Amino acid sequence: MSEDLAAQLENSARYSPFVWAVSRVVLPNRTGQWDFSERKWQINILEDTFPRICSEKSAQVGLTTIFICKALWFMDYRSVRVIWTLPRQDDVSEFVQTTFTPLMSKSPALIKHVGRGQGDPKSVRITKYRDSYIYFQESSVEPRMTPADLLAQDEIDRSNPDYLDSYVGRLEDSPYKVHYRFSTPTIPNFGIDAIFHNESDQRYWMVKCSHCNHFQNLKWDANLMMDADGQPYYGCEKCRGILSPDEIINGEYVAMSPEKTKDVHGYHVTGMMMPISKPPAYMFQRSQNMILKNFYNILLGETFEASSLRFDSGTILSNVFDPDEAPYDRQSSAKGATYMGVDQKGRGDLHVVIAQVTPNNATGKEVLRIIHAEEIGHRAGRDTWKRLHELMRLYNIRFCVHDATPNLHPAGAFRERHIGKVALKFDGPERSDLFSYDERTGKLLLSRTMNFDGLLDDVKNGLWRFWGVRQPLAPVLAEIVAHCGNNKRDEVERKKRDGSITTVGVWRRTGADDFAHAWAYCRAAFMVRPANRMQVTLIGEARRREQLEESVEYEESVVWPGLMVRVKKKKSGAKIA
Ligand SMILES: [Zn+2]
Repeated sequence: MSEDLAAQLENSARYSPFVWAVSRVVLPNRTGQWDFSERKWQINILEDTFPRICSEKSAQVGLTTIFICKALWFMDYRSVRVIWTLPRQDDVSEFVQTTFTPLMSKSPALIKHVGRGQGDPKSVRITKYRDSYIYFQESSVEPRMTPADLLAQDEIDRSNPDYLDSYVGRLEDSPYKVHYRFSTPTIPNFGIDAIFHNESDQRYWMVKCSHCNHFQNLKWDANLMMDADGQPYYGCEKCRGILSPDEIINGEYVAMSPEKTKDVHGYHVTGMMMPISKPPAYMFQRSQNMILKNFYNILLGETFEASSLRFDSGTILSNVFDPDEAPYDRQSSAKGATYMGVDQKGRGDLHVVIAQVTPNNATGKEVLRIIHAEEIGHRAGRDTWKRLHELMRLYNIRFCVHDATPNLHPAGAFRERHIGKVALKFDGPERSDLFSYDERTGKLLLSRTMNFDGLLDDVKNGLWRFWGVRQPLAPVLAEIVAHCGNNKRDEVERKKRDGSITTVGVWRRTGADDFAHAWAYCRAAFMVRPANRMQVTLIGEARRREQLEESVEYEESVVWPGLMVRVKKKKSGAKIA
């Protein structure tokens, strides 16, 4: 290389992360070479020096390397601190060992600037590079107080949303405030999907069809086609002409919400953008062999929500009214046992749902009917629990499940006033029992996932009724329905004790959901203290006694007219701390 050219490169690298990366970074892959021939889109992201960037992406497309290079470029010319977060401690160790360290040690231009002196950090989680530092941290614990100039949040959807937010405060005192967020998505309007759609300018890779000039971004449902021989290909959504790998590779990013370009630059990346290493036939085969949700999330970088697990207004409203049923009159109808669920938040905002065991007018079978719901809003000087005492009396509540947090003290005092009729709900371990209840202390450990799963099943089985009529729906009932829709079912990976990974269901909050919880607690109240007059059979009771000593896992069903509720039990006698 001539001295002139070297000097030119050196100067360009200062202003171009792209030039910087290709002239300094040796990739820890087979060839060590950068290859953008199929990934021109990576250059756009690498070159983008805007401080706020997010990416909703498919997995294993090399984007983490791109962001690491952006961070190192940033550190190369300034004296700064970088915080890089990953969901868990294991992820941090793995990332440092398999991605960061190999990249640094293979690149002579980088490794010579890594601090190896006496006073330099010895931990693998902190690296000194020139006069800058990069910290790798797990986002499943409360963040340490380290201030930062660049915050990169990797795998957002698997991280704890509360801690992710508190990390952002680390940027406050920095003149740079660079913030990168990227992740494979999970469910709609949660995590990276919410950030991409609500905050960013939403750049999609647009491809021009050479047959009809139609400009389109690649969508699995619209662009995956079969030719006459049944072979999959990517075709134009308008004319069905083939979109060649060349045309796809030479697409360009176009912002769908340019008015937000001043806020956050958002890049969508789908596996369909790599038609050579992930050709249509390969992608099609994966779509056939993978769980559909994983295929959409991991290979397409798209969200996925199973329609059978949607707790939305369609599901609810089509099941809580009978078409031929007269509107339920709350005043004059027969009085069955009543149950109350109370969700609390903030300084004492309470959401209350009250249900009563009533006959279904059409069938005569008993159902649980929501007969009252209200929000008792916190106001200065007002005791919101006073109204709750009133409701206990007014509706002659048989049993109430009251959220124990955040205000444990007034919740405990409320229980003291109604001993034997109020349980304080704490989050119980998932995947063991639906609940365990200690009569003496009034503590109820409730599995949130199993309870919501059960409530959704109940509703679909026609077990729940609302008061009134579907049109017009009472405003507070409409609010309950909306809150349920903001709760979305997802699956997450959990590590078992033997180290293997298993997937478990979770319900995630994507908006206001207080009434959904109040309803679910109302269901729990019924489950803890079912009405006497209802036929409650415990199947497997005899088996349970036999197996108690062996503490073998077994399943039992609480059968209630018209419905089954699955309760998975490990062994009885679970003690509440
Ligand atoms: Zn076309």
